[in-house]
Amino acid sequence: METTTAPHIVWPELELIRNDFPILKQTVNGKPLVYLDNGATTQKPVQVLRAMQDYYTGYNSNVHRGVHTLSQQATSAYEAARHQVAHYIGAHNHEVVFTKGTTDAINLVAAGFRKEFLHEGDEIIISAMEHHSNIVPWQLACEEKKAHLKVVPVNDNGELDMEAFASMLNPRVKLVSIAWISNTLGTINPVKDIITLAHEQGIPVLLDAAQAAGHLPLKVHELDVDFLALSGHKVYGPTGIGILYGKEEWLNKLPPYQGGGDMIKHVTFEKTTYAEPPLKFEAGTPAIAEAIGLGAALAYITQTGIHKIMAYEHQLTAYALEQLRTIDGLRLVGDAKERSGAISFLIGDTHPSDVGVLLDQQGIAVRTGHHCTQPLMDRFECPGTVRASLAFYNTTAEIDRLVEGVRKAVTLLG
Ligand code: PLP
Repeated sequence: METTTAPHIVWPELELIRNDFPILKQTVNGKPLVYLDNGATTQKPVQVLRAMQDYYTGYNSNVHRGVHTLSQQATSAYEAARHQVAHYIGAHNHEVVFTKGTTDAINLVAAGFRKEFLHEGDEIIISAMEHHSNIVPWQLACEEKKAHLKVVPVNDNGELDMEAFASMLNPRVKLVSIAWISNTLGTINPVKDIITLAHEQGIPVLLDAAQAAGHLPLKVHELDVDFLALSGHKVYGPTGIGILYGKEEWLNKLPPYQGGGDMIKHVTFEKTTYAEPPLKFEAGTPAIAEAIGLGAALAYITQTGIHKIMAYEHQLTAYALEQLRTIDGLRLVGDAKERSGAISFLIGDTHPSDVGVLLDQQGIAVRTGHHCTQPLMDRFECPGTVRASLAFYNTTAEIDRLVEGVRKAVTLLG
C-alpha cells in the first residue's frame, strides 16, 4: 500500500521493511489491510519464516541428546538462538530460559516462589495495570500460602503512583512484579526507579516485558533487574516461545518448574539431581523451530535498529494521538507522559466491539474488549476499550485510514 508519511516523519527503509511482511499486502473486506493489533501479536518477516522452514526442511532433529549430524546442527541452532536472545537483552546465555511465552515465564517464577520463598503473611507487589498473566499466578500463590497481593494504584492518566509504591515496600514483600509497558494504556513505567527503590530494601523485581521487548532497548544487566519475561510472538517471532531471564543467583536458587527429560543430571528412583540452569527449567523436547524463529526475529530487529524503531514509533504514536484527538467525543483511556504506541480509546457511549466491527469492515484490525486487564477496566469504569497498537511497519497513511474509519463508525453509530 501507499506509504506516504506526514512531513515530519521520515523513514526511508519503510517500504523495504514492509516488503519483508507479505501478510500486510492483502485486502480485507475489499480494503487494503491496516494491521493495528500488534499488542496482541505482531506479524512475522520472511526472515523468521525462512529460518523455521530451513530447520524443518534441512536439519529437523531433536536437540541435546544426539550424536548424529542433524541433531548436532539442531542443537547448535537452538543454542545460537539462545545466544541471540542473550545478546539482545544484554545477558549471559545461561541466564536465558526458553519458555512458552510471557505467561509461562511468570508462572515459572510464581511456582518457584510459592514453593520456596513465600510464607504466610508475606506480600507480593503488582500494579493496577497488570495483564491477567501477571495477576493470577501471584493470586494463586498468595491464596495457597496465605500471603497478600498488594496493588500499586494508577492515576487518571494511567501512570503508576510511585509515592504509593515506595510506601508499600517493607520487609514482608518478597517480590515486585510489574509490566514495563501496559498493554492497555501504553504507559511506559519508570522501571529503573522501581528497581532501585525495591533493591534498596533487598526486594527482587520481575519485569513483564511482553509489550516492551520489540519497542525499546532491553538491557537486563544494566537495569539490574532480577527477572524479565517476554513472548516471541510479540517481537515478530512465532507463537509458543518466549523467555524468562533470571539472574544467575536466582536461577540457581529457584526449584525446577516441571520434571522430565533434559532438565536432569542423574535420575534414580530414590533421588534425582538436576541440570544447571537454564536446562533445569526446560523439561521435555523444547519448541526448537520456534526458538530458532525467535532468534531470527531478534536478529531482524537488531539489523533494523531498535533505536530507529523506537524513534519512528514515537513519532507515529504522536501523530496518531494528535489525529485521534480531533475526533469529537473520543476519550483516550490512559494518557501518560511516557507512553508507547498502544492507544486505548472510547467514543461517547458506543460499545468498543461495535466500533471494532465497523473498523474491520473497512479492513482495519484493532482489538476491543478488556485486553486481559479487567481490574484496570474497573479502575477506569469502562467494560473495555478500542485499542490500536502500532508497530514499526505501520505508516502515517494507515493512521489516516484509522482516523477516517473511526469517524465513519461514529457517524454510523451516532
Ligand atoms: N503481559 C502483557 C503486558 C501482555 O500484553 C501479554 C499479552 O498480551 C502477556 C503478558 C501475556 O503474553 P502471552 O499470552 O504471550 O504469554
